[in-house]
Amino acid sequence: MGGRVWEIREPLKVSGVKMKLGWGGCYNFHMTPEIKTIRLPLPLRFGSVNCYLIKTDNGCILIDTGCSNSRAELESGLLGAGCEPGGLKLIVLTHGDFDHSGNAAYLRKEFGAEIAMHRDDSGMVERGDIFGGREKGPFIFKMLAPIFFRFGRSKRFRPDLYLDDGDGLAEYGLEARVLHIPGHSRGSIAVLTAGGELFSGDLVVRKNRPVRNSLIDDPAAASASIARLKRLRIDTVYPGHGRSFPAELMP
Ligand SMILES: [Zn+2]
Repeated sequence: MGGRVWEIREPLKVSGVKMKLGWGGCYNFHMTPEIKTIRLPLPLRFGSVNCYLIKTDNGCILIDTGCSNSRAELESGLLGAGCEPGGLKLIVLTHGDFDHSGNAAYLRKEFGAEIAMHRDDSGMVERGDIFGGREKGPFIFKMLAPIFFRFGRSKRFRPDLYLDDGDGLAEYGLEARVLHIPGHSRGSIAVLTAGGELFSGDLVVRKNRPVRNSLIDDPAAASASIARLKRLRIDTVYPGHGRSFPAELMP
């Protein structure tokens, strides 16, 4: 092992310290956190899903955990980045879908991390019900979901903590706050760092270009969430699927 640590590196601003407007409205210095994208294949060549590993002074935070079919790749990605059992402090799930939460229970057991997510999606991971955080699903999706996103009892879990809009992650070493952005599911959240990196989950995805997700549970809520994001000071968007993009390209 050793040697190269970050295998897939998003365009990083490694110039060190840059000045940004802090949450309190006064100017603070923020280090851009070190971000590793672990891109994992979905079952049946159904595309890929992103997990984002953020290194902080207090250990590591993982945003989303992928689907259980690619557990070995996720684990080697974590270990390759120097994130050992005990070093992973927190798992933030942007929402309850099984392509994002499929390895959370396993990582909690093996790495000791706490699992955090929004309460409104917890039914999805506690009961293995993809519609636990949704009013309804398109019929075809309802038919296909159990095939693509199997979520057996061993993968189900109860979160350790619930995150809501405005919660901070400073105690885990990351200057960031949680945004509740319903639309894709009721309990969808994003993480916005003080430096302007937005981990947006599945509200928007990047195909050839960033687009609004075609799987939307509540279109009005999704529009309001996107409108809200456009008013915020965001630099780079890290979506649940596809490559990161500048906030100006927000659909
Ligand atoms: Zn997804």
